[in-house]
Amino acid sequence: AVEALCGDLSAIRAPRGSALSARSWQTEAPLRMLLNNLDPEVAEHPQELVVYGGSGRAARSHDALRAIVRTLLRLADDETLLVQSGKPVGVFRTHEGAPRVLIANSLLVPAWASWSEFRRLEAAGLTMFGQMTAGSWIYIGTQGILQGTYQTFCAAGERHFGSPDLSGRTILTAGLGGMGGAQPLAATMAGAAILCVDVDQRSIDRRLATRYVDEQAGTLDDALARVRAAAAARRPLSVALRGNAADVFPELVARGERFDLVTDQTAAHDPLTGYVPAEVPFEEAAGLRARDPQRYLELASQSIVAHVRAMCDFVRMGCYVFDYGNNLRGEARAGGLEEAFSYPGFVPAYIRPLFCRGIGPFRWAALSGDPADIAVIDRALRALFPDDVLLQRWLAMAPGKVAFQGLPARICWLGYGDRVKAGLAINELVRVGEVSAPVVIGRDHLDSGSVASPYRETEAMQDGSDAIADWPILNALLNTAAGATWVSVHHGGGVGIGNSIHAGMVVLADGTADAAARLERVLTADPGTGVMRHADAGYEEALDAARAGGLDLPSAPL
Ligand code: NAD
Repeated sequence: AVEALCGDLSAIRAPRGSALSARSWQTEAPLRMLLNNLDPEVAEHPQELVVYGGSGRAARSHDALRAIVRTLLRLADDETLLVQSGKPVGVFRTHEGAPRVLIANSLLVPAWASWSEFRRLEAAGLTMFGQMTAGSWIYIGTQGILQGTYQTFCAAGERHFGSPDLSGRTILTAGLGGMGGAQPLAATMAGAAILCVDVDQRSIDRRLATRYVDEQAGTLDDALARVRAAAAARRPLSVALRGNAADVFPELVARGERFDLVTDQTAAHDPLTGYVPAEVPFEEAAGLRARDPQRYLELASQSIVAHVRAMCDFVRMGCYVFDYGNNLRGEARAGGLEEAFSYPGFVPAYIRPLFCRGIGPFRWAALSGDPADIAVIDRALRALFPDDVLLQRWLAMAPGKVAFQGLPARICWLGYGDRVKAGLAINELVRVGEVSAPVVIGRDHLDSGSVASPYRETEAMQDGSDAIADWPILNALLNTAAGATWVSVHHGGGVGIGNSIHAGMVVLADGTADAAARLERVLTADPGTGVMRHADAGYEEALDAARAGGLDLPSAPL
């Protein structure tokens, strides 16, 4: 059974339907979601177990994957499996209300938390990079980031141009990978014309094939002409251009080409595997990386400096520039560019007011594999939240625009109070059989209460608590106590080793009363920690949300 499920790394596919491979849905759910992370439709490089985000893996090695699958197939409903950086290390007797899997990924003692030490340990086979939802088995393909990116572009429109409708506006970005690939579709959903630069034709092909990007231009002149014409006609359009951002961005500055918004989503948080230096032809990059990593990193650093210098020039040209959570600015500053932080990160610029209300990237996946289950849930949520304008627009557009990757799934930003409503509604749909098999409900680690990341989610907190990492640990402990189906704590996701600590959770909706009780607890507690964290930092929006939601926060001035 193990070989059939995961013997061939190029052909993994989660089982579909309602027949179980594991002993119950409690263990079938993590099994299917682990395998789904490695489905070639979902994972960027399944042969290396890499799901997305540079080197974010679902399991440490092929043997470790087999061992996790073997263990999940036999795991009982009063047992808990422990996974240490992608390797199953223990099964303990717990109880039926406890999580079935607990995961710790990529954690290092703080004074040792550097990329060089991490790579040394990784090469010794002792750890793996889990990114956020790669090692915690709730990545759902590029759609996962799509709603967040749409939300961010709309919020930027609202803030700078007085409307979330970006018709007639232009955006420049780079990076069309697992997550960066959401940018073109999110931009066109918001109405904009966007130019996306990527150095790897494979990334561009993938986005063309999944309809995330509309078209590819052969030259920079051609790309600019298409984007400018679309914006002039207020026609949404996304154009990919093959090129290196460290060449193309300075060239655009030199030509005086302005864009309304400028950002970047190359995987610069990990410059060795996620950023291609401009000096090296793309075809030779992998060879140099393997042969002389030190030289590769020097060249990557020079390119990142040139890339960010151009972004700072765009600020001077009057464009709204923001960092999109990949630590590009941090790497540029480390490379000697003093002015690297002269533009803000996207969280303080646009997302924090949402986090204060516990709003973040809520998602669910249909374990049946049947897209009709997601359609049923889409309809139910539109009926449940008639006044949520962004949700209504998103759920109206998403079914026509989003090609599912792997198990059908949906993401939708929801906040404290609404998440529990949505979770219970989904459980009820499973119970009455309108949804054909259980559903898992989880979220990104990029959420309001689950991450400490001073260059991203907790950049510029108003009480200066950016680097305090107690919060994500409390979030994970609370989700464990509340009975999530699996819970994870990771290090380094998004912005790289040394720069973040974050937690994830997934909870099963199998239509039972037990699931309803767990969903009620977990989906209240989890976003509740986001409201708590921001109330503690003194944000008025969070204090208001705490009062409205009746949260019990002993130290907050409620
Ligand atoms: P990925 O590794 O799948 O893709 C990176 C892409 O960048 C690849 O297609 C690569 O060819 C391209 N690239 C690398 N160097 C380039 C260069 N110099 N010029 C042009 N293209 C270049 O990574 P991903 O999953 O798309 O993630 C991208 C980054 O976004 C990561 O750093 C990740 O941590 C960050 N991220 C941000 C958010 C957010 O909410 N803002 C969320 C998750 C991740």
